[in-house]
Amino acid sequence: MSENKQQSEFVKSEVLAENYARALSVYPGQVIVDLKALRDNMRTLVARVSRDLQPGQNAPEVMGVVKADGYGHGLIPSALAALAGGATWLGTAQPYEALRLRAAGIDSSRCHILTWLTSAPTTRFADLITENIDISVGSIDSLDAVAFAARNLGKPARVHVKVDTGFGRNGFTPEGFNAALEKLQQYSNEGVIEVIGQWSHLAVADSPDVPEFVDATDRQINQFNEFTERMREANVAPKIRHLANTAATLNRPEIRFELVRPGIGLYGYEPDPAMGDSQTYGLQPAMTLQAQLGTVKAVEEGHGISYGRTYLTPNNTSTAIVPLGYADGILRSASGFDMQGARHVDKPGGPVRVETNKGARILNVSGRVCMDQFIVDLKGDAAELGVREGDTVTLFGPGRGVEFAEPTADDWAEAAGTISYEIMTGIGPRVPRLYRNAYEVLSSSDIAKLDAKSLI
Ligand SMILES: *Cc1c(COP(=O)(O)O)cnc(C)c1O
Repeated sequence: MSENKQQSEFVKSEVLAENYARALSVYPGQVIVDLKALRDNMRTLVARVSRDLQPGQNAPEVMGVVKADGYGHGLIPSALAALAGGATWLGTAQPYEALRLRAAGIDSSRCHILTWLTSAPTTRFADLITENIDISVGSIDSLDAVAFAARNLGKPARVHVKVDTGFGRNGFTPEGFNAALEKLQQYSNEGVIEVIGQWSHLAVADSPDVPEFVDATDRQINQFNEFTERMREANVAPKIRHLANTAATLNRPEIRFELVRPGIGLYGYEPDPAMGDSQTYGLQPAMTLQAQLGTVKAVEEGHGISYGRTYLTPNNTSTAIVPLGYADGILRSASGFDMQGARHVDKPGGPVRVETNKGARILNVSGRVCMDQFIVDLKGDAAELGVREGDTVTLFGPGRGVEFAEPTADDWAEAAGTISYEIMTGIGPRVPRLYRNAYEVLSSSDIAKLDAKSLI
């Protein structure tokens, strides 16, 4: 390394360290996203769908689903890492997030963007068409509104026809489809729409071990193919078809078609713990949620902890404040109960990794989660354990195997009776998002699209 290069690397690492220190002084909890994990997860998904192709078959393209602020990881950084890993499409539910991607400088020469949660009277279809954003249509009203906007603009809209194959959410039903086909013919003949895709969403692809669910998915696939036939017969055949979420991308190779739409896999999680953990698929959780302890103090046996006295200290012990609460997305249902006596209820709260001078310990939320904070029973004397105010604790992270036991978002999901998706997307906007490995993963022009202070 030249002296200049060494000097500039040194300056860079100083800046990153300053960013980290500043973040801790601004807020006592942080989401840390490893951009390399995101990039590598996308690479893994791209490699997986590129295997075992039939002769002459092209590998399906991969969409990085970055809805809901990139599943809580940050919209723009997640999108850029997905593109660095080989995604050629991005997808958002809300149109405003699709527009934000284009506004950040991710232009149409670089990737397609599909958005799907529109509403005929209020969505700014003209902006979407202008920005070359593909639009899902699943109702006659939205089809009319898209055509109207395109006609006014003098530019055809790229549409993906959403069909309801049994999920019961968005899309045309088989019964209502003839009316849609007529409109699709009319508008494509007029040149105001271009039928790019046909698509649908699966209800139970994450349970490959439940025969009833496998049958339900098979029925959805049959329905999907019948819709395709009807589009072909009506002369509005889709150029591409897409159906697979992460679960189907991983375990249903026959329905990858021309494009797959993994979301949770990009962030390093399996759709359902029944599918085995994410390592099975070579995926690595990208998000770490950590916090710096508030007050650490000694309390006596039988001390009520937090609202409702749902946790009574079983012994003389120390407690620590973790300064994140339900206003930050720490679900109140992850509260931990240990009620001795008549109304005896035991339920472990969400797990927290605490470093002690006897090694790391996994402790749990003790008592009810409050608005801005929760309490952890340290199960010992803080001074003896070497646990102090200001120590950084980890709520969840990549997991990192047995010798470095660390909770994951799946563990929090279990404690709260939900799924990892809700844990990650629920982390409030006031918790800063910080990014590792930006320089390793992104080009300098992409790094310039990020908030420089968020890089650590
Ligand atoms: C969220 C979503 C996906 C991605 O689902 P995962 O289970 O996260 O892979 C794909 N398609 C649609 C329509 C979605 O809403």
